[in-house]
Amino acid sequence: MRKNDVVTVAIEDIGINGEGIGKVDGYALFIKDAVIGDVVEAKVTKAKKNYGYARLVNIHTKSKFRTDPRCDVARQCGGCQIQAMSYERQLEYKKEKVRNNLIRIGDVPEDLLRKVMEPICGMEDPYHYRNKAQFPVGTDREGNLITGFYAGRTHQIIPHMDCAIGREENKDILDIILTFMKEYKILPYDETSHRGLVRHILIRSGHRTNEIMVCLVINGNEVPYSQILTERLAKIPGMKSITYSINREKTNVIMGRETGILRGQEYITDYIGDIRYHISPLSFYQVNPVQTEQLYGTALEYAGLSGNETVWDLYCGIGTISLFLARKAKQVYGVEIVPQAVEDAKQNAQLNGIKNAEFYAGKAEEILPEKYEKDGIQGDIIVVDPPRKGCEESVLETMVKMKPEKIVYVSCDSATLARDVKYLRERGYEVGKVKAVDMFPHSVHVETVVLLERKAQ
Ligand code: SAH
Repeated sequence: MRKNDVVTVAIEDIGINGEGIGKVDGYALFIKDAVIGDVVEAKVTKAKKNYGYARLVNIHTKSKFRTDPRCDVARQCGGCQIQAMSYERQLEYKKEKVRNNLIRIGDVPEDLLRKVMEPICGMEDPYHYRNKAQFPVGTDREGNLITGFYAGRTHQIIPHMDCAIGREENKDILDIILTFMKEYKILPYDETSHRGLVRHILIRSGHRTNEIMVCLVINGNEVPYSQILTERLAKIPGMKSITYSINREKTNVIMGRETGILRGQEYITDYIGDIRYHISPLSFYQVNPVQTEQLYGTALEYAGLSGNETVWDLYCGIGTISLFLARKAKQVYGVEIVPQAVEDAKQNAQLNGIKNAEFYAGKAEEILPEKYEKDGIQGDIIVVDPPRKGCEESVLETMVKMKPEKIVYVSCDSATLARDVKYLRERGYEVGKVKAVDMFPHSVHVETVVLLERKAQ
């Protein structure tokens, strides 16, 4: 196989980035935008010794799993890698991904998985679920003001205001801001010259409360004629917070450090379960509130609390899982590396009158051994929700020493999850339940909750 070869190939598998995989005489080709079941014509773009990459040129035979993506720009965007695949097939793919990783990397017996793995939790309506969106602002080749998204791996803005997974009111908000900018000749930021004012528009919404926040990220200290802009934006139902964030750096980081209020308050409120949260422009908050409730609900169910337990919530972020569990536990300890998130966690505890949750800022791999070995703090149940790279081995080691009855592992990367499950299975724990939760429909990502129970010795 050589570069620029054109081949016809049947797509038989799905890669980890959602691409179709087909074989030509045993040689595997990875083809972006091809759907499992398609027969496609593709042009080789890169040929390595044992495998290569190809660009989809033409679909010969459409897969029965193919659907028309709602966004006509889905292929350019790259945010939804598998929007052209039916939602049922997406769910199947995600469940299989988790299952295969647990078997291959985690060494979990297939027989056991058949018993303990629950159906994947998908969404009834897998669109318009994201409660947060960040739109870059710029100009097209003709100099027209535009906003949309960056084309995959570039900073070229593709104009698009009604993303199929974003909230429907986003378009109206963007319309108001762009019209205002045109009328008052306010320039978008230009990366090359480092001039112009408006860099990004951040929109966040409360799923339960329908409160809305708009934050303009600016390369300057103020928004001229802001009174006029805010009056127009205030007409959108639910508009509670209009702010600006100052970012004058030459950087890819979107938000600046300093925030100012243009109208209303600096935060909006939302609920997960019956816990109330304050969300500021900079706070971390899960982007799919409907599925977050499912995810935490599963963690709570797996923890099986009776009210007498001491619970650890490692990698706790703004304390979302901790607070969700606190009402049903004796004491909860949360550990999180970002100090600001810990401050948010403490505030959220207070906001909800929760007194049995304590939060520590620091690395889980340092705080947990310290609290256990020096202060003798125990744990009946340990919940972990680490970033993609999974848990540090020293965290797993301390957990094993602490001998909690249950470990509830929440994961956004089933490969590292499986690696850690293997470690725990070899040291006295067995998989009791597994559930995949689709937090990000149309993307290749999937969350998983695993219950690990201590085996009788
Ligand atoms: N459980 C939270 C957040 C999970 S995201 C929620 O559901 O909202 C993972 C979190 O782990 C992030 O907040 C990240 O800042 C934190 N983190 C990353 N490395 C860490 C470490 N070594 N020790 C503690 N926290 C860490």
